[in-house]
Amino acid sequence: MSASTSPAAGSTAGDAGQAVPAIRLRNLTKSFGAKGFNETKAVDGVDLDIRQGEFFSMLGPSGSGKTTVLRLIAGFELPTSGTIELEGHDVSGKAPFQRDVNTVFQDYALFPHMSLVDNVAYGLRVRGMGKAERRERAVEALERVQLGKFMARRPAQLSGGQRQRVALARALVVEPKVLLLDEPLGALDLKLRQQMQIELKELQRSLGITFIFVTHDQEEALTMSDRIGVFNNGKLAQIGTAHEIYQRPTGAFVANFVGTSNLFGQDVATRLYNRGSQFVLRPERLTVHWEGQGATHDGATSLRGAVTSLVYVGHATQVRVALEDGPAVVVLVDNDLPEGDALVGRNVAVSWADHDAVWLPDAA
Ligand code: ATP
Repeated sequence: MSASTSPAAGSTAGDAGQAVPAIRLRNLTKSFGAKGFNETKAVDGVDLDIRQGEFFSMLGPSGSGKTTVLRLIAGFELPTSGTIELEGHDVSGKAPFQRDVNTVFQDYALFPHMSLVDNVAYGLRVRGMGKAERRERAVEALERVQLGKFMARRPAQLSGGQRQRVALARALVVEPKVLLLDEPLGALDLKLRQQMQIELKELQRSLGITFIFVTHDQEEALTMSDRIGVFNNGKLAQIGTAHEIYQRPTGAFVANFVGTSNLFGQDVATRLYNRGSQFVLRPERLTVHWEGQGATHDGATSLRGAVTSLVYVGHATQVRVALEDGPAVVVLVDNDLPEGDALVGRNVAVSWADHDAVWLPDAA
């Protein structure tokens, strides 16, 4: 069913509103089940400010709590403790229709018996808008997502990507301050998904609406977001730009969840650098020396190992190397390598520039 909501009273706008975040969560906690019996802390003390006009993604593995945070913001769930502010107003106990937010669900939740234009106009009808005006606005919204010419069709007469756009048009037509998107591209194939990622981002930019986007797909989050919040076990493990999250993960969880990481343990770190923390090296920062002779210059480190497998990924090849005095690592090699297993078992050296090592503070 539609999650359309009506505008909340008294929201801040204009210059004075710039410093007020679109969404502010403080110590937000949500438990399900009975205390001491089957209690699950789905959300555990989350503090988060999402800026006005920001594309913010909540990223994390299944069960990490991101959908529950979205449902708490929408008002479909009420917090166990903590607060939710929408443009400076506490909405923690308010019903969904009293919050100026709208949701796009993964299954789109379109009305199958209604035409596209009626589907999109539905939220305006609920708000009591006259027939002519709501039709005009619905057509406008469908044109914005390039579906104007299909407005008389029913949802079943569309492709998955087109249905997704109808759901988007329907959510946007009521001009919410914040749009919540719960894995809206999850049902699409890769190509369409990538195309919709670009369209969604462009739409968000042109409308200037705050988007909060839930996904477990790290590439999607890195591509689209101004900032990303990475969830683990109901807590926010890190908040930052795509660049910060990828290049400077603050812990082993984020380093492993976002992109491929080669994690070096404290024992290796102590031996190589006399430093007792874990560190991470991204596959593209490592170099394979096929003749087994590693880098010897200052500021670089090499370890010897043996190739265990090669995986061709189109633009590059992932070469797996079991290091003698270190972990098994993945190296991204972008030049052409012979096909097949000819290189498996080869003794090589793997090197990196020391400044590319990302030290993880939580293991210090
Ligand atoms: P996914 O990507 O699979 O949707 P998620 O990160 O969005 O996962 P949530 O759906 O927020 O995770 O769930 C967080 C935890 O809360 C999970 O352990 C889940 O089983 C539990 N949970 C969520 N909703 C309920 C509910 N209504 N009753 C009981 N437990 C729930």
